[in-house]
Amino acid sequence: MPDATTRSITVFGGGLAGLSAAQKFTAAGWDVTVLEIEPKVGGLASSWTRDGYTFDHGPHRLYSSLESLNDHFKEVLDGNWHYRDRLSRIYMQKRFFDYPLKASNVVKSLSPWLLFRSFADYAAVRVRNAVRPIPDDNFENWVIKRFGRTLYDLFFGMYTRKAWGIPCTEISADWASQRISLLSLWDTVKKTLFKPKNTPRTYVSRFLYPKTGGIGELGRGYERMILRDGGRIECNARVHKVNVEKGHITSVTYEQNGELKEHSSDLYLSTIPLTMLVPLIGNGPPPEVDRAINGLIHKGIICVYLKLDRPQLTPDHWVYIPEEHIAVHRISEFTNFSEDAAPEGKSMVCAEITSTPGDERWSMDDADLIKLAGANLVELGLLSKDEVLDGGFVKRVDYAYPIYDLTYRGHVRSVMDYLKTFDNMVSSGRQGLFRYGNMDHSIAMGHAVARRLLENSAIDHEEVAAGEEYFG
Ligand SMILES: Cc1cc2nc3c(=O)[nH]c(=O)nc-3n(C[C@H](O)[C@H](O)[C@H](O)COP(=O)(O)OP(=O)(O)OC[C@H]3O[C@@H](n4cnc5c(N)ncnc54)[C@H](O)[C@@H]3O)c2cc1C
Repeated sequence: MPDATTRSITVFGGGLAGLSAAQKFTAAGWDVTVLEIEPKVGGLASSWTRDGYTFDHGPHRLYSSLESLNDHFKEVLDGNWHYRDRLSRIYMQKRFFDYPLKASNVVKSLSPWLLFRSFADYAAVRVRNAVRPIPDDNFENWVIKRFGRTLYDLFFGMYTRKAWGIPCTEISADWASQRISLLSLWDTVKKTLFKPKNTPRTYVSRFLYPKTGGIGELGRGYERMILRDGGRIECNARVHKVNVEKGHITSVTYEQNGELKEHSSDLYLSTIPLTMLVPLIGNGPPPEVDRAINGLIHKGIICVYLKLDRPQLTPDHWVYIPEEHIAVHRISEFTNFSEDAAPEGKSMVCAEITSTPGDERWSMDDADLIKLAGANLVELGLLSKDEVLDGGFVKRVDYAYPIYDLTYRGHVRSVMDYLKTFDNMVSSGRQGLFRYGNMDHSIAMGHAVARRLLENSAIDHEEVAAGEEYFG
């Protein structure tokens, strides 16, 4: 794609995938322009400070299994980082369960009847699987085969159904293999009893986080480096049209402050949602690609930020709430990430509620959402009504999660094959690859694109976070 004369690139989207790539290109002396629709960079990993509270889109723990990438995060954060010892638990039936599950905790917390059922149907499923192997063809089968139906219903099925808003038989097993930390109930027991040093999947027990400013400091760090090296970042700039001639992108038209502007470069890197990008290219995609685009579904979330009149709700970084009569599915507490995230003696939690543009919850008033989330936490017995202070905030995130349903892989393949028909454009990042990855994956994708284009490396950014590796 690039040749010796290629020296300029336009990056669509100023999230971590776009910024991490842009930083490498500016460092290499290229002419770089980043177009970001929001008033500031950071994307999903943004933070805000208001009334003395600093908050993110839910919990954002920063970690990579590659030490070189952890060192890179520290460099970008320029000294503003510390380690946190992770605590995340499940809260149900008014009890906390360790997450990942610990056998000792399950034994202590479940009633004798449920405990008996859990082990009995785990044994039954192992026998059934030995006679006729249960296929790993969807999330439900993947988990039942490894944990039995009782534990699936209690800890995995209920939460996943609630957070994703679709039945677990319609969710791909890819999601289970990347997000469940232990491989079976037997693994859980072994890990608790024998505490082996090396388990097949390593749970992230310590992570990085900025000392001040929230996770958005990472995007701000990239921004500083890009501007220092002569790059350009245009905020409030929405990619409006991608202009094409014979399979070659000639320019991009973007809308900024009500004005349409045009910009051209040798190459284009898109990190905006695939489903948003493709209809903007030329005269639009052929019908089969259009069908694939329509088959790719995102789940949104509503982040409800509650100001609390107490210094701490729980010591957890985040808590999963599977019970289906409660709207909130996870809470995170920012003062557990960074002590100065709230005024002295106060705290703030982010209560996440699954929702998608157009549904009933999405159009609820902010005040009603704040009331609903507060009432949920009171009903759970986590706080009393008078501990929720006035003046909470709400943020709606439309492209929060790509839904890994049973057909997504084929659709993504068709769209990526179509994009490869353009000779000077690459799509990458969580949104650009429709990949349910973490921050480190988006940064690794940005770096992989940069290495491929700058060094002609054979590294394939599409392979990042694509396999069965566990994301911790
Ligand atoms: C609730 C939640 C919790 C999470 N927790 C963690 C965690 O604990 N650890 C972790 O590592 N990861 C976590 N993640 C994932 C992490 O936030 C993302 O993987 C990462 O930030 C994605 O970066 P990205 O650049 O690939 O995508 P994005 O951040 O989505 O960037 C895409 C950018 O494109 C911009 N854009 C969109 N449309 C246009 C347009 N038309 N024109 C111009 N710009 C446009 C967007 O504004 C955005 O800035 C979490 C995500 C969520 C939603």
